[in-house]
Amino acid sequence: MRRRLILPAAIGLGVSIGLLPLAGAYYLSGERAIATERLHLRDYAGWTLQRTDRAITRAKSSLRRLVMENHELCSPRHLERLKQLKMDVLTVEDIDTFKDGKLICDSWGLSSSPELMRKPNILLADDFGLVVGSGPTAHRPQGDMLAVAFGPYQAFIHKESLVDVLHDTPMVLGVATRDGELLALSGQADLSLVRQLSREEMSGATNQKVFASLRGADFVAFAISDRRVVDRRANDELWKLIPIGTAISAIVIGLIVWVSRQRMSLAGELRTGIAYREFIAHYQPIIELSTGKCVGAEALIRWPRPDGSWVSPDLFIPYAEAHHLIGPVTDILIERILEDMKVALRADPSLHIAINISAEDIQSGRFLDVLSDAIEKAQVNPAQIWLEATERGFMEADAARATLERARERGHAVAIDDFGTGYSSLSLLESLPLNVLKIDKSFIDAIGRKAATSIVTPSIIDMAHTLKFIVVAEGVEKVEQAAYLEAAGVEFAQGWLYSKALPPREFLQFHSLRNAGSPMPEAA
Ligand code: C2E
Ligand code: CA
Ligand code: CA
Repeated sequence: MRRRLILPAAIGLGVSIGLLPLAGAYYLSGERAIATERLHLRDYAGWTLQRTDRAITRAKSSLRRLVMENHELCSPRHLERLKQLKMDVLTVEDIDTFKDGKLICDSWGLSSSPELMRKPNILLADDFGLVVGSGPTAHRPQGDMLAVAFGPYQAFIHKESLVDVLHDTPMVLGVATRDGELLALSGQADLSLVRQLSREEMSGATNQKVFASLRGADFVAFAISDRRVVDRRANDELWKLIPIGTAISAIVIGLIVWVSRQRMSLAGELRTGIAYREFIAHYQPIIELSTGKCVGAEALIRWPRPDGSWVSPDLFIPYAEAHHLIGPVTDILIERILEDMKVALRADPSLHIAINISAEDIQSGRFLDVLSDAIEKAQVNPAQIWLEATERGFMEADAARATLERARERGHAVAIDDFGTGYSSLSLLESLPLNVLKIDKSFIDAIGRKAATSIVTPSIIDMAHTLKFIVVAEGVEKVEQAAYLEAAGVEFAQGWLYSKALPPREFLQFHSLRNAGSPMPEAA
């Protein structure tokens, strides 16, 4: 991805991933609040149903008892009994006694104004009936009563008492018969919704209301609440979820910003490093094993940071390769190396400097012109500049061959680096115009050990010589390794046994000291 796209993309991704949990939390809290409210309303519908059943059942059993007691209607004893029952059964307000369809007495005494009996408009089981409508005597407020009818009796109940259930949040409670005849309603409600709830057991929500109904053996009770109550509860739920949602968002955004900053900072710093030509070369001496003389050096890139730290090439070279930034780095190093070494190279025509060329550069061959210009400017022999590339550079064999041929024509030696670590086939080696083979440190480490690779080392050396390669051993750290390699006919070696990579001036000192006078065998 292009660098300038990384930040907006990271922010976009961060915000969307970060906000998703919050949006999810909000959606969830709304859904949860509605579900909770439906259950809440169902509970109240259940309690309303219980209350209604209890009131009607008590009235029924009072009337059943009266009939069973077989009273002489409106006798003093009967009147006493009516009064007593009214007192005992709290929900029963009054009990009327009828004869031939006319009121003859009630729990207040003998009736003075003869009133007609209203027939039950709802029939219940066991010959009971319900009279829904106005109450018939002056003792009772009109219209608010409901009567349970049985035999000559009608027991009156306040409709209100059926739905008089204490509730914790605002709601309307109602009760109806199973046929959908509304008996009582505790407040204002949309009649079509009431009708629907009276007819079937259901629970749900609209934009304005949340509701639930419950059916019993004789009645249906329901509860309706305002959506605003639920929204308030959803907000409460949201406040509970917000800390979790925010924490997740913060972690996700933080992580994305951190990762992208890490990535951007290296790419950005590499570009700055290129713009300010911050890369320099250190030189690791290459020793001719037969004479002990320093015949060359491998230039190894170093990146001193303004804060005094050094970035390892193992870290930034693969990164630069992956982000197509290696080209300018190679160019800077080529120019730097020729500037550092031109005097020494001119003075000692047997000295060579090996430069590491990345796979992309080998494929394109672009660096060759930069190298030619630098060599011309420095006035050195192109044969004194060797090139090193790993087999990754040879994957596109035709493109690689073109670059290597041009390099060889100009007089450069070309080495295959880290030999033995990849899958290079012999035929590939033979088919490419290479003339130096650098044996990887792992094979040098194996010398004198019983490692599996130690069997391979002599075969690599033999094969290289058969193919007329000059062999350079890398990472030589021990005298025994040097002795073995010399005995095996390996021409050159480099490694900490001789020296680490040195800054230019120190390398030049090493070179002249090492080559002054007689050969210097390594101390045991
Ligand atoms: P390489 O080309 O295989 O370089 C050899 C590495 O082994 C160097 O690490 C060197 O310091 C280290 N080394 C040399 N002798 C010994 C030894 O006796 N013992 C041990 N343990 N290590 C030894 P360095 O300088 O960190 O370079 C690492 C890699 O970075 C190089 O591996 C090469 O692949 C890449 N590199 C370095 N300079 C350049 C450059 O100028 N251009 C490009 N494209 N890549 C470079
Ligand atoms: Ca190398
Ligand atoms: Ca190497």
